[in-house]
Amino acid sequence: TRTRGAVEIQSLTVGYGGAPVLHGVGFALAPGEIVALLGANGAGKTTLLRTLAGLVPAASGTLVLDGDDLANFRTEDRARRGLALVPDGQSVVGELTVDENLRLGALWRHRGAARERAVAEIYDVFEPLARRRTSAGHQLSGGERQMLAVGRALIADPVLLALDEPSLGLAPLVVAQLMGTLRDAAASRGLTVLLAEQNVTSALSIADRGVVLDLGRVAADAPAAALAADETLRHAYLGF
Ligand code: ATP
Repeated sequence: TRTRGAVEIQSLTVGYGGAPVLHGVGFALAPGEIVALLGANGAGKTTLLRTLAGLVPAASGTLVLDGDDLANFRTEDRARRGLALVPDGQSVVGELTVDENLRLGALWRHRGAARERAVAEIYDVFEPLARRRTSAGHQLSGGERQMLAVGRALIADPVLLALDEPSLGLAPLVVAQLMGTLRDAAASRGLTVLLAEQNVTSALSIADRGVVLDLGRVAADAPAAALAADETLRHAYLGF
């Protein structure tokens, strides 16, 4: 059984100076679990991920990773502790090649032969990246770029991978490929995954559970299949 990657989020309240954006949010992730974080634009998904990574301070509440209160860890120490955030938008460096971008992710984690092994492992999982290793970041398609962002996060061997809308702007077929790769990578590494998505169907297709945020509060926390089948909930919060 997996022992690392357990997350507890308790009574989390976060704001940007005005009224809170997250109001007493609480849920947990078991080691190896994939949890879809769902909710409309502005529900607070990005804020939750940024708080987890230590980029936004919590007003109150606790975040616990494998028994450690994350309040005691700065952003870079949370990364060392095994938390990787794949932010939305353009985190790939356009001027660097695919290979260089990947190595950036491994820089502080692996050296020498271990780094070469880590890079090779990523190319094994993300075959399209292997074919593009000498291409510059700005030459990649949207799907390749997102794959590179995920690969760069994985190369540091995280125990918890948090992703902010990786499907944004991608064609449906590309989204399906990315989700499949994510599921396989998570399963083979025993990763815990928190997947913030507006693409509800795709996220639930690989998730064990879904947590729905509505205006900064948890509106539902249920097995993925139950969420997908709950018509009332789907209409109210998930838009399908
Ligand atoms: P999206 O899908 O658009 O990213 P989201 O569910 O991730 O939505 P957040 O981005 O967390 O939601 O935003 C939640 C609320 O916090 C919104 O009302 C937003 O306007 C507000 N907000 C986000 N970032 C800031 C900021 N830096 N300063 C002030 N308010 C912010």
